[in-house]
Amino acid sequence: MSQQLDAQLANVGTRFLIFPQPRFLTKDDGTPVFPEPEEVIVSVPPAEMQPGPADDRMFVVDAVEKLPYNRLTRPPYRGPARPPVSPGPDGHFTHLDPDSREFSAATMYATVRRVLDIFEDYFGHHLEWHFDATFSRLELIPLIEWDNAQSGFGFLEFGYGRTPGGTIDHTRPYCQNFDVLAHELGHSIVFSEVGVPSSPLDEGIDYGGMQESSGDLTAIVALLHFDSFVKHLLGTTKGNLLTVNGLDRVGELSDSRQIRVAFNSRRMSDVGPEPHERSLPLTGAIFDTMVEVFQQELVQNGLITADLRDRSTQLPGSVTDLRQIQADFEAAYQGQEKEFERALLNARDYLGRLLAVTWGSLSPDFLTYHDVLRALVRADRTVSGGANQAIIRACFAWREIAPSPDSVLLHQHTLQDCGLRTAQPVEDATRTIFVNGAGADRPRQVSSGKRKRSS
Ligand SMILES: [Zn+2]
Repeated sequence: MSQQLDAQLANVGTRFLIFPQPRFLTKDDGTPVFPEPEEVIVSVPPAEMQPGPADDRMFVVDAVEKLPYNRLTRPPYRGPARPPVSPGPDGHFTHLDPDSREFSAATMYATVRRVLDIFEDYFGHHLEWHFDATFSRLELIPLIEWDNAQSGFGFLEFGYGRTPGGTIDHTRPYCQNFDVLAHELGHSIVFSEVGVPSSPLDEGIDYGGMQESSGDLTAIVALLHFDSFVKHLLGTTKGNLLTVNGLDRVGELSDSRQIRVAFNSRRMSDVGPEPHERSLPLTGAIFDTMVEVFQQELVQNGLITADLRDRSTQLPGSVTDLRQIQADFEAAYQGQEKEFERALLNARDYLGRLLAVTWGSLSPDFLTYHDVLRALVRADRTVSGGANQAIIRACFAWREIAPSPDSVLLHQHTLQDCGLRTAQPVEDATRTIFVNGAGADRPRQVSSGKRKRSS
């Protein structure tokens, strides 16, 4: 979401509390990295908010003793449920105790609504549900007795994590896990905006990887809307966000699944067809693009030198080099925290817009990562006037994302292939080019090889 719209919403929207990352993400001393939830404002004004919480796009139902939906059961849920959660006297939902069921219900709604708000702004239009021919609203079920979570046609229903002993871990409700909810909503956005492969002959290998990557990128872009998360990420790395082998620099955040996915160093030759594994080079290439756009703004604003940018992107470097690069970033970051933050938010918004324009232009049929690359390069012309083409190409080349070797795009076409010349050179001074009944309206003669060389 653009920083301007975010500021405007602060005056009109409804306030909720969300934990940017799960509370079980802890520091070395065992305390949570994000002990307090952050206040977040969704676009629905208090006057239009319904108990649940609910609005015209989605609603929470806190089902009691519900079994997970299966192939035979689907929304709407009609069984027993706890009373819908109401706002406080001020019309907002910031009064709820983070350890209460009501908090879980409200935070699940707020997370999904917030991510939808963010991406509707990047798309510049209303995002329809992919199930809107059947249901008008998304059903959100926050806490069922299940050590799992699932999204399906018209619903998201969430249970809990698992203890090491394999039982349900009630301290880890998935509905409070921002990354998981945002990832699932990312799938919905891609279903709606890209669609699904239509041919039974289409194995959809890259489509599957693209779906998982899109879920993760949705979550990362949304996560970068938390002030506390942005400050923590920059404070820990000092702005040295280079992803390859960068996990050691993100400190406590390296336990965050979302950060592990973003800061991955996998290339196409490292992965197979399994969608989650296959998503990693694509996610890495796109996240790297954002990081390099961020660094470019730092250079343009005189916050880091072009030399530091170049050293940090030229890999692999020696350990000494990497230490020096980190020391240089620390010196540059000191006293310029606000400027670094602004540059990162600008890069985030560039990536959000880039993804929206890209997804809006992709065909799901026989989709390849190379199609995604081409769509990104074209989207960059729309979003930045083509300013970041070289960055995108370099990031994708490093990840080995290229046309498949048997792609027609890689075929070479000689003049013979195009019917513009015969295969065998002849010794005559001139000859007709279309040997087998060429049309009279086409060019009729070209120089022979011999004559051309001598002319
Ligand atoms: Zn997924």
